Amino acid sequence: MADTKRDYYEVLGVDKNADDAALKKAYRQLAKKYHPDMHPGDKEAEAKFKEASEAYAVLSDADKRRQYDQFGHAAFEGGAGGGGGFDFSGMDFSDIFGDIFGDFFGGGGRSRASNGSMRGANIRTAVRITFEEAAFGCSKEIELVLKDECETCHGSGAKPGTSKVRCGKCGGKGRVVMTQQSFFGTVQNVTTCPDCQGTGEIIKEKCTNCQGTGYVSRKKRIEINIPAGIDDGQSVRIREKGEPGVNGGPRGDLLVEVRVAAHPIFQRRDYDIYSSAPISFAQAALGGEVIIDTLDGKVSYEVKPGTQTDTRIRLRGKGVPTLRNKNVRGDHYVTLVVQVPTSLNGKAKEALRTFDAETGNTLKPGGTKVKAEKRRKGFGEKIRDAIDDL
Ligand SMILES: [Zn+2]
Ligand SMILES: [Zn+2]
Repeated sequence: MADTKRDYYEVLGVDKNADDAALKKAYRQLAKKYHPDMHPGDKEAEAKFKEASEAYAVLSDADKRRQYDQFGHAAFEGGAGGGGGFDFSGMDFSDIFGDIFGDFFGGGGRSRASNGSMRGANIRTAVRITFEEAAFGCSKEIELVLKDECETCHGSGAKPGTSKVRCGKCGGKGRVVMTQQSFFGTVQNVTTCPDCQGTGEIIKEKCTNCQGTGYVSRKKRIEINIPAGIDDGQSVRIREKGEPGVNGGPRGDLLVEVRVAAHPIFQRRDYDIYSSAPISFAQAALGGEVIIDTLDGKVSYEVKPGTQTDTRIRLRGKGVPTLRNKNVRGDHYVTLVVQVPTSLNGKAKEALRTFDAETGNTLKPGGTKVKAEKRRKGFGEKIRDAIDDL
């Protein structure tokens, strides 16, 4: 079996150096194409879907990918999975689907178990945080309306003392087969029973506390711990804070999208920070200490003599902490911008003329003078000139 397995990169149609985004994109396309929900009963599509999911599961995990690159399929043989090669049992596919598909499959591939229980739907919300909160992590409290099981009927929706009856339309199966004639012949679609909404049971007398829904909605405050290093648009998953499950199924998850406000001076790319800092002409020429704003506050940096404008320096480890390990941080790149002085007093001007004479007389090039375009000076400008000349 193992030796007929296709190469994972080949399965996803990516090259060996594909980055995470490329893997995700490739898998997303394949999974959409072959997802069993789209091809009920099609064994080949199911096999393709599993093959792609397995390939993605391995290659999207840095450790597993390293093992695979080194040992091939042999890396995962002889494990708990037995002859099948890769062990799926330890994997959380809802995570992958949650990440990959978002709403595409209605909240991470919900499916009804054989006993009729079903995981609740995921709830999505968003929270706004500052640049610094994203960098160092924070906790936020959000208010949310959450459904809970009704205490009166314990979620059954039936008035206490009464019970549900089996749905006549689907005979308690919760699903009905719809047969349609189409151009291609007879098409059978299995759909959720419209009478009982898939529960297989009908409530005769509704519980008055929940109007037969089995749930009551309540406002809840939920604390969300946002890990250091999170970036704009990423989501935090809070397990089992979504919609309640059906028939004893687990609750869905709460997915909180984090929106990070722009920072007035820092820009972020992955875990690195970019900013610019002004330095004076004298500092650039002579070198010396400049003070630079970083995530950790002001730091002092020794500029080399003869620093040109737009020189980029790197402050190692002053970037954003990484999600995996907050002690590992990106870098902070600072572009030093040499400031040309705009208002000089007479003494400073004289010093510059002396400086110019010492360094090549650029102010007196000896060529024909080209007159600057005549322009009337404003009153403020005249005053400034007058003050400068004092
Ligand atoms: Zn009730
Ligand atoms: Zn029914």
